[in-house]
Amino acid sequence: MTDFSLALDEDQTTLQKWLHEFATDVIRPVASEWDEREETPWPVIQEAAKAGIYSLDFFANVWADDSGISLPITMEELFWGDAGIGLSIVGTTLGVAGILSAGTADQIGQWVPQCFGTEDDVKLAALAVSEPNAGSDVSSMKTTAVYDEAKDEWVLNGVKTWITNGGIADVHVVVAAVAPELKARGQASFVVGPEFKGKGLSQGQKFKKHGIRASHTSEVVLDNLRLPGSALLGGKEKLDERIARARERAEALARGEQVQSSAKRGGQAAMATFEKSRPAVGAQAVGIARAAYEYALDYAKTREQFGRPIVQNQGIAFMLADMKTRVDASRLLVWRAAWMGKNDIPFTAGEGSMSKLYAGETAVDVTEKAIQILGGNGYTREYPVERWHRDAKIYTIFEGTSEIQRLIISRAISGHQIA
Ligand SMILES: Cc1cc2nc3c(=O)[nH]c(=O)nc-3n(C[C@H](O)[C@H](O)[C@H](O)COP(=O)(O)OP(=O)(O)OC[C@H]3O[C@@H](n4cnc5c(N)ncnc54)[C@H](O)[C@@H]3O)c2cc1C
Repeated sequence: MTDFSLALDEDQTTLQKWLHEFATDVIRPVASEWDEREETPWPVIQEAAKAGIYSLDFFANVWADDSGISLPITMEELFWGDAGIGLSIVGTTLGVAGILSAGTADQIGQWVPQCFGTEDDVKLAALAVSEPNAGSDVSSMKTTAVYDEAKDEWVLNGVKTWITNGGIADVHVVVAAVAPELKARGQASFVVGPEFKGKGLSQGQKFKKHGIRASHTSEVVLDNLRLPGSALLGGKEKLDERIARARERAEALARGEQVQSSAKRGGQAAMATFEKSRPAVGAQAVGIARAAYEYALDYAKTREQFGRPIVQNQGIAFMLADMKTRVDASRLLVWRAAWMGKNDIPFTAGEGSMSKLYAGETAVDVTEKAIQILGGNGYTREYPVERWHRDAKIYTIFEGTSEIQRLIISRAISGHQIA
């Protein structure tokens, strides 16, 4: 006998059913409308807050599941409803993750509740890392944070781009270079409250996008943004120690010496944090792919050509078989990585990246096949599959492109510095 099981427990089943009902009753009916409007669906976020889905309590409960599976279940169901609206509901968790990974206990207690606001007055958060010339290569970021010792203030300057909830969020977590010469090791995170909107932090261009159009994506402009010393996540002492270690390491490297292992471990820890968040992103892609597969299966069983349902053609039925196989394989990779991440099992083969890579590419493939199965109808905006196809594409781009995921996996399995 073994206690191995992939069956969901009672809490997970209840969660899945509840979110599926919300996605069916609240998200799906308005998905096309918000895609066309290309605006943040505030009323839907409000409804999610009233239902108890958009709140710190909800996400804390989901995160607390020891198996790690409740988070991918949540993502899959919400994004099965609609990816643009789904991202509008969960985009705040990017900012929250930025605070949780770098903040002190006091900072976490002060800022995380503000990211969600209240049921009657919902707020959003954003995580601003990417820049026009620092996307995959975050180490080359140009935004600077300079410490003004006399006033105990940080002065931030730069432009962040493609930021989910950028400019409309109440809480922005901004990553900036404190010691640019140290690249990624010289960066730090700052939390920016709503009082700085229009006073150093402003929204730049809002992007019109191919997909996930209900999710707001903008530039965030930092123009002599003066933050109190307490805005530095983790505190000055910790930052000074980290920078000193990084300087020692850089000097040792310049002298051709062996790099200290403690500094190495620091870099790896940061990478491991990113890896752990990837299954949740993969689960969003699984939700889109499953939506398209289910829709195409129903359509193929009812659409008749040549006097019989099109599903009776092997060409269509085999496509559906491949779609279902890829959706299920993606979910298994996502659940494995989520379980490993939650239980601190090291990703020795880049399992977090694997889950996001495979689920993202599956979503693109499955939604494309769904359009094919719906024929002319699939190509029109009268049917949802073209929207799902547009939405799916972002999953090979953001949170690390497919190429970057392949780099991580190939480096992990080979031990070589693949370039
Ligand atoms: C809708 C949307 C929302 C986003 N939300 C956020 C957010 O909230 N916060 C945030 O900070 N960022 C966000 N981003 C930014 C996102 O993370 C970046 O777009 C992504 O990391 C890729 O960077 P890039 O666009 O500069 O592409 P580039 O890095 O310029 O890549 C271009 C191409 O080159 C490839 N490439 C680059 N380097 C290598 C290499 N070493 N080996 C092989 N191929 C390589 C890439 O895979 C890609 O195909 C968002 C982006 C979008 C579009």
